[in-house]
Amino acid sequence: MDFRFDRDLMVQELRRMGIRDERVLAAMAKVPRERFVREEDQDVAYGDHALGIPEGQTISQPFVVARMTELLQVEPTHHMLEVGTGSGYQAAVLAELARDVVTVERHLPLADRASALLAELGYENVRVIAGDASIGYPPEAPYDRILVTAASPGIAPELVRQCAPDGLIVAPVGDQEMQHLVVRHPDGRETRHGAVKFVPLRGRAGFR
Ligand code: SAM
Repeated sequence: MDFRFDRDLMVQELRRMGIRDERVLAAMAKVPRERFVREEDQDVAYGDHALGIPEGQTISQPFVVARMTELLQVEPTHHMLEVGTGSGYQAAVLAELARDVVTVERHLPLADRASALLAELGYENVRVIAGDASIGYPPEAPYDRILVTAASPGIAPELVRQCAPDGLIVAPVGDQEMQHLVVRHPDGRETRHGAVKFVPLRGRAGFR
């Protein structure tokens, strides 16, 4: 099946919903979202909703992916960290915009699947690591941009230390019921950008 029409409609809808960064929209117009969802969900892959993936996790809704990517202000020279690979979809969107992406997933089957799919789709600038990245991934630091895609009690100091001095961190911060998208700026300020609901971050700096 050809999903180009669905992809274009999704991008039009994202523009209507207020996504302004044309580079983000162009990236999302390229990534075949239907490959990142369960086979039985391919028909609804481009609707604006989160969908279940294995291990009880989710692929985030397109608007939230677009909004977080827009907030990150990714440049083609950027070296990035994503915490929470899940399906690998967000990593593919980031890989369209950044120099390279390190993405870490605590569920080994998800990490393996995302790694194989991203390689099959030709994303040579993404490296998928299996493990706990609630306190980041020091071997590849510093990062120009860090994105956390699981609900976090706060932005861990370890992530701040692994971020470049002029870098940005974006994370859904709150409790396990509701969070706000938070941007941590280079001067330490944190700004809030709308309510979201993510599956929880686990591990050392996550929820118990
Ligand atoms: N970005 C993903 C995508 O595009 O499909 C969606 C991520 S899903 C909402 C959150 C993911 O974070 C889950 O796959 C979960 O297993 C993972 N996760 C939770 N805690 C983690 C941790 N401490 N380290 C790495 N991954 C974690």
